[in-house]
Amino acid sequence: MGFDTALTKALGIRLPVVQGGMQWVGYAELAAAVSNAGGLGILTALTQPTPEDLRKEIRKCRSMTKNPFGVNLTLLPSLVPPDYAAYAQVIIDEGIRIVETAGNNPGPVIKQLKAVNTIILHKCTTIRHAKSAVKLGVDFLSIDGFECAGHVGEHDIGNLILLNRARQDLGVPFIASGGFADGYGLAAALALGAEGINMGTRFMCTIEAPIHAKVKQAIVDADEADTALVMRRWKNTTRLFANEVTKQALKVERESTSGEFAEMAPFVSGKRGREVFLNGDIDFGVWTAGQVIGVIHDVPTCGELLSRIEREAVGAMDRSKALYTATPQSKL
Ligand code: NAD
Repeated sequence: MGFDTALTKALGIRLPVVQGGMQWVGYAELAAAVSNAGGLGILTALTQPTPEDLRKEIRKCRSMTKNPFGVNLTLLPSLVPPDYAAYAQVIIDEGIRIVETAGNNPGPVIKQLKAVNTIILHKCTTIRHAKSAVKLGVDFLSIDGFECAGHVGEHDIGNLILLNRARQDLGVPFIASGGFADGYGLAAALALGAEGINMGTRFMCTIEAPIHAKVKQAIVDADEADTALVMRRWKNTTRLFANEVTKQALKVERESTSGEFAEMAPFVSGKRGREVFLNGDIDFGVWTAGQVIGVIHDVPTCGELLSRIEREAVGAMDRSKALYTATPQSKL
């Protein structure tokens, strides 16, 4: 008995749960813990300052788990544009078989990775982008609803619509991303036609996530209204934890007369966000969080979390099945 979906089969994992890329969070400690617990752990490539550092992190992760794990490579506007091709080459050289891509113009990187038959999960927030990725030959789509943390895209479509559309239109297996934290969500995603789920924020709130305990506590204390959307003006909308810096950034976005991104940059800088995770001052910089913070109430180990998700999903699927009987009993 166990899950048997296109995702678990293709990736060789026990549970259809992926830990998505997270800047300044996706280190070996977390990826290995998720993979050891039966999901797919993912290292975030650009969290490593250079491609050579990524090579070391991949080797470290391999020493911590015998199970499959992947690497995320995200292509978004950046204050210091990375050499994506060099990161992709390290991924290839180190024998990584699974890559999560995301962001704009992924064509060249996907081509580079597909040339050696890497399994690609491409994350996107619209069906139009998903269809372009299908043409590029990706193996799975990671359909990222408006609930998600970080870069939500510019169309604001929630997962009830996006996942249905993905099932109707794509013809390629997909997983559900954005708004997932438990087994009820996993069962719902499977019911909508997904082959599994992707979680980010939920994994930030685990014992093994290498971020300060005060950030985890802030997530536990928050509710679903405690995020804010910033950078729509520059068509790079991102969902952030609604802390003091996020509010200052929103004010600049609203009030800037020049409209220059340079005015915004000091507030949204990833470097400051990284400090939050290191020193635990949750107002030091911006950091991403999904609306799912309202559903997260504890800080378990990855093993406890994934066992619970499995139990809940099986219970939810059994319950749904029991709601339909061949001979309904009328109360009239
Ligand atoms: P950063 O400090 O370079 O930029 C801060 C924010 O501003 C980011 O959201 C970025 O997309 C945005 N930005 C930068 N220049 C912009 C411009 N000219 N116009 C509009 N928006 C702009 O970002 P960071 O958080 O330090 O991230 C560093 C790298 O990691 C970037 O290349 C980013 O794409 C990538 N990243 C990866 C993930 C992931 O989960 N894999 C998440 C966020 C960022």
